[in-house]
Amino acid sequence: MKQKMKIVKVTRETPDTNTLSFQGAEKMDFKPGQFLMIEFLRKEKIPKRAYSISSSPTRNENVEITVKEMPGGWVSKLLNECNKEEEFLIDGPYGHFIFDEKEMKEIVMIGAGSGVAPYRGFCHYIIDKKIPIKATFVYSSKTEEDVIFLNQLRKFEKQIPNLDLILTLTREEKKGFHNGRIDDVMIKEIISKYNDPYFFLCGPPKMVQSVKELILANGIDKDKVKQEIYG
Ligand SMILES: Cc1cc2nc3c(=O)[nH]c(=O)nc-3n(C[C@H](O)[C@H](O)[C@H](O)COP(=O)(O)OP(=O)(O)OC[C@H]3O[C@@H](n4cnc5c(N)ncnc54)[C@H](O)[C@@H]3O)c2cc1C
Repeated sequence: MKQKMKIVKVTRETPDTNTLSFQGAEKMDFKPGQFLMIEFLRKEKIPKRAYSISSSPTRNENVEITVKEMPGGWVSKLLNECNKEEEFLIDGPYGHFIFDEKEMKEIVMIGAGSGVAPYRGFCHYIIDKKIPIKATFVYSSKTEEDVIFLNQLRKFEKQIPNLDLILTLTREEKKGFHNGRIDDVMIKEIISKYNDPYFFLCGPPKMVQSVKELILANGIDKDKVKQEIYG
């Protein structure tokens, strides 16, 4: 479905990341984890880009996306300079990177950078619907300053009874954070806590590919691995 929607709120999350809240004439029906195609309505031709919905269908007053500005990136820079009231053509929802509570009783969410976006939607959905789930959320960032939704993630850990949160920093050592990339030791430890988990991988292509290889090498069936590559 395509509809015109306007920005009703802009929230600064980190120095290079904003959450944009959109509202249209009709409420959007979507599943947690799906993405939208965002098209500017300006005179100059600007390419469409895909962005995961970072909000939950249980809170669908506004639909939100969370955009991290890419160094040298065209559209992400423009989006992060936008103000309230600008109108866009928004197409969606699309995608199969979906949390399905009927099927998934154990989930491991793994993300890096802006790849945290759909998991915010998952967590709000799990909290709002009081879904009994066993989950681990591993989120890799360069430095503490780059951790998108830091305060919200710490709250999710308290609000979701069986959620383990692992925040790892790859370029900084800080108290309260794991240090280094997502590696085989971490994956083995996570797998040992579960019977039959679903894995979600989201973010830059290299991270998704390398973590997927680790997971499959540890005996997880490929049908249990869902991925969203931001490339
Ligand atoms: C399903 C899906 C969901 C996504 N969800 C999100 C999300 O929730 N949040 C988010 O922030 N992003 C998300 N993305 C990524 C997003 O769609 C854009 O790709 C991202 O914002 C970069 O777009 P851009 O126009 O700013 O960058 P571009 O201008 O396309 O540039 C991207 C990179 O390529 C480099 N580059 C550009 N042109 C060249 C060239 N000719 N040669 C070499 N290098 C070049 C730039 O320096 C930059 O580093 C998602 C992608 C997909 C596919």
